[in-house]
Amino acid sequence: MFEKNRKLINSIEDLDEREREFLYSAINIHGHACGGMPMGYVAGLAAMKALGIERERNMSTMAIVNSGDGHAAGCFVDGVQFSTGCTFGKGVMKKEPKGKWQFTLIDEKSGRAVRAAIRNEILDAAFSAPFITEYRAKGIDPTDVPEELASAGFRRLFGLDPSQVVRIDGPFTVELPKKTPCFERVTCSRCGATVAENYILSEGGSSVCADCTQYGS
Ligand SMILES: [Zn+2]
Ligand SMILES: [Zn+2]
Repeated sequence: MFEKNRKLINSIEDLDEREREFLYSAINIHGHACGGMPMGYVAGLAAMKALGIERERNMSTMAIVNSGDGHAAGCFVDGVQFSTGCTFGKGVMKKEPKGKWQFTLIDEKSGRAVRAAIRNEILDAAFSAPFITEYRAKGIDPTDVPEELASAGFRRLFGLDPSQVVRIDGPFTVELPKKTPCFERVTCSRCGATVAENYILSEGGSSVCADCTQYGS
């Protein structure tokens, strides 16, 4: 599988060694060739450039994505996640579902943000390509789409100037709440689970986890 991905990435022209390795990692993490992930990947890079920031490493950049669940091209979010480094695990990626191929990237150090949206023409082309019309819309899994069709959709984005792919609004200034991460742990008095202190509940004078609480849920 990784060899197949390597071949696809190597077939894209105009990438330097570093960009090739980076994109190769992105497709391996995503798991299949499609048109959605590269959209988010290109948009993420363009948004970082517009803010003048590097890839997120220390929880100081936040991405708020507006795609929802149960609609096509959610793969877009993986591209944003990988290229910006704003990962779900680090708590610097949030979903505010609006059914749009759009996200806001916030530099928490400067309080500046940009909004990035995939252009309609790019979505039109992706949704009218056989990858969607002949295969995905008929319930066929991405990895069962003929390789040349999946690869074509993936490659297409890299032959364009990023400004043709994504519209950037901003930078504008945003107000941010102060974040203070919790490093304390508490043991649930009922089940013995270790719980981050900011999630422990107090019930009848004892500390309990959310699974053991007897009130509500
Ligand atoms: Zn995908
Ligand atoms: Zn418990």
